[in-house]
Amino acid sequence: MTKRVAIIGAGCSGLTAIKCCLEEGLEPVCFEKSSDIGGLWRFTESVEDWRASIYKSVVTNTSKEMMCYTDFPMPEDFPAYLHNSKVLEYLRLYAKHFDLMKYIQFQTEVCSVTKCSDFPSTGQWDIATLTNGIQRNSIFDTVLICNGHHTKHYLPLDSFPGIENFKGHYVHSRFYKDSANYKGKTVLVVGIGNSAGDIAVDISNTAKQVYLSTRGGSWVLSRISKGGCPIDMMLSTRFLTWIRNLLPASFSARLNENLMNTWFDHANYGLEPLDRAQLKEPMVNDYLPSCILCGAIKVKPQIKTFTESSVIFEDDTVVENLDEVIFATGYVPSFPFLKDPEVIDDINALLYKQVFPTRIEKPTLAVLGLVKPLGAILTAAELQARWATRIFKGVAHLPTAARMEDYIKKSMEFKTKVFAATPNQKLQTYFIDYMDDVAVEIGVRPNIMHLLLKDPRLAWTVFFGPSTPYQYRLSGPGKWFGAKKAILTQWEHTLNPARTRLVNKSSGTWLNFKTLLSLCVLLAAILLGLYCINGKSWS
Ligand code: FAD
Ligand code: NAP
Repeated sequence: MTKRVAIIGAGCSGLTAIKCCLEEGLEPVCFEKSSDIGGLWRFTESVEDWRASIYKSVVTNTSKEMMCYTDFPMPEDFPAYLHNSKVLEYLRLYAKHFDLMKYIQFQTEVCSVTKCSDFPSTGQWDIATLTNGIQRNSIFDTVLICNGHHTKHYLPLDSFPGIENFKGHYVHSRFYKDSANYKGKTVLVVGIGNSAGDIAVDISNTAKQVYLSTRGGSWVLSRISKGGCPIDMMLSTRFLTWIRNLLPASFSARLNENLMNTWFDHANYGLEPLDRAQLKEPMVNDYLPSCILCGAIKVKPQIKTFTESSVIFEDDTVVENLDEVIFATGYVPSFPFLKDPEVIDDINALLYKQVFPTRIEKPTLAVLGLVKPLGAILTAAELQARWATRIFKGVAHLPTAARMEDYIKKSMEFKTKVFAATPNQKLQTYFIDYMDDVAVEIGVRPNIMHLLLKDPRLAWTVFFGPSTPYQYRLSGPGKWFGAKKAILTQWEHTLNPARTRLVNKSSGTWLNFKTLLSLCVLLAAILLGLYCINGKSWS
């Protein structure tokens, strides 16, 4: 009998979940609380309960070739980085192309997900939904949770002494829509994540003065890298990942620090992270350094206390006549419909490969999109969905609970070392390492050696070029025949939309130089690798 899958949410994770279910011969029923698809990417002027909310100006911090579904490139004319409305347009195209809309029940909230009484034998779930005030219970064989993790805002007011006395106005960034209310005002933005950076810049155009308070600093990257290429396409390569994994951690951290400081010296702008070696998610912001240089934004340390009309920082500097505070202090994952805390613990949502809870007797429930992969969440969620649906179908299997727990423990130790696994960073992973880790489970991890023998040009591009999502469609289950072409045209696809005025371009000397340079670096890396393996016998 066909297995029924309940999918909670019709954002980018939920949509791909529907498609993957269909491809594996499962029967999806997607419940979406709001009246449309898109989740976080559907901007609305008002903030809706249990749906992530974005501000008008959000532009992606991952480029279009790095943040698409693995078998559905973005339209040729979409720019390299997308305004939120374009992401929604893409999601609509995806839903239309794969005919996904008919599987979604809109304005239907999932209120509870509980194990059926015969759970250990059937693994089934009782799903209670609410549509127009009418509650319904249905039994499902499996569940895919796709409710997003940028909905429940984190506002630790007890970390900000005196805030109760502050007579100005304060909000969390979740409620920020545009800069209209901040014109001519003195505004403090708290935090140094991507929301804080975007909002500070947005407001700085019309505010009297903007202050940005950070307790730990952050690396800030531009979307634009060498030669005008998107930064994620330049950094997310298998070659660089290989080098990073080969080098001692302290050396990698040093290289990373140098790389981060090539655009501007973070120390001079008050942004340098306290722990320079740790690699928590950098801010991607093209305008912040310029706003700081022009004085429109002033970076301040941690807050000591608020008074009725001012804020005092740890260094005892004071900003008087403060009008507004925006706390861009992030989000916490939340699963209000999971009534049994044994299934997933809200705060410590520790899942096997960020997808499967380990404490349930049968692998019939999975979470998608609950990851911060230093890359696109949408693409990671799709790979997770391909894996989860294969587990549900019974063609792939999970290890024992003990082995999964052990894996989680080791991965947390690694994260604590590399990303400073504060509650905020527990979901952090390296992009390619994570994607490959899931891809292995599906049997779609690109095999460079095999490719090298079969198609050297493609192997070269896969190894040295950006690790675009299409790489996970080259072979194995779900192989897509358009993958090779998509990989070989990824740069044209990225840069063509910006070439709106034709100019004569000089010959390809630079490309040849780059190729030569890559070869030299490859050779050096091989020698270094050999040295690391045989180090002792060489000395
Ligand atoms: P969501 O998009 O949040 O969708 C969840 C859906 O579930 C919603 O439609 C909601 O209504 C529905 N839902 C929730 N609860 C229930 C329920 N009980 N019953 C029924 N339906 C329910 N990521 C990137 O990769 N690149 C970026 O550039 C990027 N920019 C971002 C910018 C901002 C400002 C923020 C906050 C995040 C950004 N992200 C970015 C991360 C972003 O969360 C993901 O890209 C992506 O939107 C996650 O999709 P999702 O489907 O998992 O969750
Ligand atoms: P975030 O990345 O979690 O950042 C939260 C910030 O709040 C951090 O700087 C954190 O400091 C700070 N903070 C938390 N608690 C604090 C406290 N008690 N005191 C002082 N500071 C505190 O949240 P976000 O910026 O909202 O981003 C959420 C996700 O959305 C990210 O993945 C981000 O990439 C994405 N996003 C993308 C875009 C875009 O594409 N343009 C825009 C916005 C958001 P520490 O660093 O010291 O912990």
